[in-house]
Amino acid sequence: MGGVDSSEAENAESIDDPAFQKAVFEQAYRQTCLQLEDGKAGANVAMFGQIIKGRSEAIDEVVADYASECGAECVSGCAFCCHQMVLSAPLEIFDIARHILDTKPAPEIAGLKERLAKRAPLPLDEQSRYGADKPCALLVDNRCSIYEHRPSLCRTMLSTSRSACETSLNAREQRVPFIAEPSVISFLMQLGIDYALIRHGGLLTEKVELSRALLIALEDFESAFQTWSDGKEAFPDCHVGMGSGLSNHDLAERAAAQCGVVKGSD
Ligand code: SF4
Repeated sequence: MGGVDSSEAENAESIDDPAFQKAVFEQAYRQTCLQLEDGKAGANVAMFGQIIKGRSEAIDEVVADYASECGAECVSGCAFCCHQMVLSAPLEIFDIARHILDTKPAPEIAGLKERLAKRAPLPLDEQSRYGADKPCALLVDNRCSIYEHRPSLCRTMLSTSRSACETSLNAREQRVPFIAEPSVISFLMQLGIDYALIRHGGLLTEKVELSRALLIALEDFESAFQTWSDGKEAFPDCHVGMGSGLSNHDLAERAAAQCGVVKGSD
């Protein structure tokens, strides 16, 4: 892949192994640093798209392995999990927005913006945004309309019981037997990428709620992307706190310190 060698995941005895965690974080960090260095001459949107593409391909490999090993029941057309609040990295938002603006006809984009505008004002908490009547604005005919570009959260949501997903959604209880490992590995990959963006680009990496942030990026992509590229806040009022209470920036710094990726080491 472009960002992380997913064979690390296949060879790992346990995702709790600190050596494995270090390898995933560090590979993503170092690969992203190289890509940032290559992209200094310009073409930044394309370069960031390549970073996300490589990461997504690696995640998909990990997900495929765990889905088969753990008996995931996720199938095409099953979209119970697309009624949850989705948190995304700013980089993912720009990747999705660029894809939509480059490939979808104007009436389709207008319809999407209308759906996003209906979801955007909802409170930024999972419970308020979860339910059968609150599908993701990108869900069309029970399929993800940006499937190849969907965020990592969506890529890693693997369930071992479709009926539990349905029951959970109807009861609005969010009790689904998810397979945790792909999410953990994906989180480490993204932290490695984010640490490179923070250190070498001075960029903001805090997670944003998908519908609010995507609406901003679709309304004026160039302005939002320039703001983010300048290290400024492109997605005000879109941020959702991490469960740990730490910012994504702090989590990336902490992971770097734990992995020994510190200033002067690269
Ligand atoms: S982005 Fe796609 S996969 Fe993710 S919740 Fe929306 S429709 Fe579902």
